[in-house]
Amino acid sequence: MKKLLNLMLIFAGLFSIFGFDLYIESNQTIEENIIANEDSIVYVRVLVAGDAMCHSPQYTNAKSGNGYDFSGCFQYITEILSQGDLNIVNFETTLAGEPYSGYPQFSAPDEYATSLKDAGFNFFLLANNHCADKGTNGTIATIEKLQNMQISSAGVYLNEQDRQDRYPALLEINGIKIALLNYTYGTNGLSVKKPVSINLLEDTTQIKKDIETAKNKQADIIIALLHWGTEYQRYPDKQQKEKAQFFFKNGTDIIVGSHPHVVQPFEYYMYDNADTTQKKLIFWSLGNFISNQRKEHTDGGIIASFTITKNLISNQVQVENHTAIPYWVYKNTSFFPGYFVLPTENFINDTTTFKFSDEDNKAFKRFIENTENLFQDSR
Ligand SMILES: [Zn+2]
Repeated sequence: MKKLLNLMLIFAGLFSIFGFDLYIESNQTIEENIIANEDSIVYVRVLVAGDAMCHSPQYTNAKSGNGYDFSGCFQYITEILSQGDLNIVNFETTLAGEPYSGYPQFSAPDEYATSLKDAGFNFFLLANNHCADKGTNGTIATIEKLQNMQISSAGVYLNEQDRQDRYPALLEINGIKIALLNYTYGTNGLSVKKPVSINLLEDTTQIKKDIETAKNKQADIIIALLHWGTEYQRYPDKQQKEKAQFFFKNGTDIIVGSHPHVVQPFEYYMYDNADTTQKKLIFWSLGNFISNQRKEHTDGGIIASFTITKNLISNQVQVENHTAIPYWVYKNTSFFPGYFVLPTENFINDTTTFKFSDEDNKAFKRFIENTENLFQDSR
């Protein structure tokens, strides 16, 4: 024992004599290892925004010269969007042309879409209850105009071939293959004529096939963007829970929801798979991204944020750093264009950009407080 101890001391001595060199050498090795690991991991940051509505007061206030300009609405959120690689928004209107209309059957000026694109959104969701608001021709016009604007979308299709070509949407970003699915609970009783089609949540046979297609096309991750839930309800309903089970069980990795016009929690949702209980990430509802709705809970929302990582050596894919970025929609038509999406963190103490009235201040604080309370249980 004593011999061994002596030997260890001699070694320790050697290390201390040559310590400096050894230290540098081993440090270099560690650094090289880190670089090698970093090189083998690729990342995609995904941001998802909720319901982009276009009520008539919004376009009325965005009138500019012979057209419309909504870019000012999004000027304070662009910095956050610039940090995302894949920025998704639920485009809850049509581009059916004039006469423009708000609730209940929407048709927004084309500039509404270009402003969202310019703000940083690169993927629009169209499977929602307003996509058939202007009939078959309105749906066709929306698809074609977005294509002309070079905006990718999912949810509605011109015909069978178009659906086959573009669905599930498969995006390869930074070496990660992401499949996007998009379905709606319904279309307010309106329908479109064949061959135009809308992805419906009730069509479970088709959904299973779509998920299989995504898997067959070697998607690293499958994200389902679902238009569902009960309007103005701050917690998921029975249908949402059942559908979440269905999507997760069949191989979906993440679910992000929209439609209730209010924020619902995000969490790791437990679901039954074979004999085990597993958990996957779900954002139940993101609330309004922008709208003319001013009632409590409807005047703001969250952007879902998460990072997908892939280890190119092991092929392991993970979802990391998920969080919710809250913003409040400020309406003040004495400023152009009257509506502003304000990240709460940057604006709650800001007294120079806008001077909020007492009423606005109260509403802003109320939104933050409500959202924080709601997220106490979110993880
Ligand atoms: Zn909706």
